[in-house]
Amino acid sequence: MAIHKYYKVEGDKLVRLKRFCPKCGEGVFLAEHPDRYSCGKCGYTEFKKSNENKS
Ligand SMILES: [Zn+2]
Repeated sequence: MAIHKYYKVEGDKLVRLKRFCPKCGEGVFLAEHPDRYSCGKCGYTEFKKSNENKS
């Protein structure tokens, strides 16, 4: 199953959309932290990649 990324391009900007919890499904957003995302409902945590900002 592919890892979904929620990006949207507006003009020349790349806008990151909120991520959904893969366990709870769409409608339950992951809370964004400096180094990770976490679900307040089921406790799912997803760590950010350190090389995410490559240009
Ligand atoms: Zn969840």
